[in-house]
Amino acid sequence: MPFKMTRIIATLGPASAGKATITRLVKAGVNVFRLNMSHGRYADLEQWIGWIRRVEKEQDMALGILIDLQGPKIRVGKFENGYLHLNTGDRLTFTTRRVTGGPGLVPVQFVDFAKSVKRGNRVYLNDGNLCVQVLRVRGQDVEVKVEVGGVLSDFKGVNLPDAEIKSSPITAKDKRDLKFGLKAGADYVGLSFVGSADDIHQLRRMIKRHKSRAHIIAKIERKSAVACYKEIIEAADGVMVARGDLGIEIPLKQVPVIQRKILRECASKAKPAIVATQMLESMVEHNRPTRAEVSDVSTAVMEGADAVMLSAETATGRHPVEAVKIMAETAREMEIYQANHSRILHWSRFFKDDPPISLGIAYSANRLVELLGGKALMVFTRTGGTARQVASPRPNVPIFTFTDNLECARRTALIRGTVPILIKKKGSFMQDLSPFMQRVKETRLVKKGDRIILTTGVPLGVPQWTNVIRVEIVP
Ligand code: PEP
Repeated sequence: MPFKMTRIIATLGPASAGKATITRLVKAGVNVFRLNMSHGRYADLEQWIGWIRRVEKEQDMALGILIDLQGPKIRVGKFENGYLHLNTGDRLTFTTRRVTGGPGLVPVQFVDFAKSVKRGNRVYLNDGNLCVQVLRVRGQDVEVKVEVGGVLSDFKGVNLPDAEIKSSPITAKDKRDLKFGLKAGADYVGLSFVGSADDIHQLRRMIKRHKSRAHIIAKIERKSAVACYKEIIEAADGVMVARGDLGIEIPLKQVPVIQRKILRECASKAKPAIVATQMLESMVEHNRPTRAEVSDVSTAVMEGADAVMLSAETATGRHPVEAVKIMAETAREMEIYQANHSRILHWSRFFKDDPPISLGIAYSANRLVELLGGKALMVFTRTGGTARQVASPRPNVPIFTFTDNLECARRTALIRGTVPILIKKKGSFMQDLSPFMQRVKETRLVKKGDRIILTTGVPLGVPQWTNVIRVEIVP
């Protein structure tokens, strides 16, 4: 499999959770596995994590693990017959009372539901396929009129795009899942239904209390998050454009524009960005994607996404490995085009009055790649910060990322273009480069005579201190 700059995240599920399939997924191009905490028992998830770590060792490459917290996903309750038919124009009652649903009555599993909505608000059901409008709120009951009818079955999702939900997106279940996930060695924690930067700060405090260095991926899927996406990106370690819920919370036509804005902002802030949901959805059933799906993957790559994500395609779909192969080939095709036609992103205009020296070095190293026809970049990092900064102008060459920290290598698996290389002890590029060059040559991504632009910090070992650029020729 040729090197691809774009990272692939695959959601594990019944269709893919097995050591042999995980190995095939990695060989096809997966860099990070996502465990969706909405499903699965801890014992199973623990076994899956064990398999990922064994495959990581066997394949000698760093693999990231992202646990995706369910968050306050609102659902309807159970119905007498397992479902209810909602006719357009009907009036019915949604309630937070603990009842079984039936004709005219829909139970909702969200205690603050009646407090969160008001007259005129829209309530979407079942992935936005059905819609009702609030007429009146009375205690725990909410009277509604059906705007778009259809079949509503047990436990389908509810979205409240007009409501202002003040409560924290971290539920009691999320806290238990977080404890489990961090103990099991998650590298990233996905926070669902983020509403503001404060939600990220709250999660960060919790992660710290668990003595973990896991990074936070903010899932942008609420209207309120779109309103303050820049602050959220600033606070988080990375962002996911979670288009499933986002496409219900805001008008669908706005999603591609928001995606583009988020990807731009993430690149300028050196934060990894993931584009998620329905990327190759038809492959849940079919062995070939639609033209539009391939185009969607390609567009995300062109727009500078660090990673593209598969959900049901790999978790429950019939062709998990094929889906990854097609995604990888599609990404690669666009990357080849970009290598010949696109320039690095010019961040100098974003530099504030007193920019960090490391940012200037990262940007200048990218410029040197272009000016000197460099074939790769090379960095040392302990936190992944330098790799993120060097990747932010979106170079079209691999970034050899040397680290002596396994957790850091796993986290950089999410950053576009990086080739994490674990070394025993932090050495110095300045003293003897030959062992590092040897490792670089072993990847076969560069050849004798190629120019490599490397960055490092002198003196060594000072965090966030990257102040030197060197140009080397592969011996
Ligand atoms: C989404 O809504 O697009 C998403 C990725 O979140 P989830 O799969 O948890 O619904």
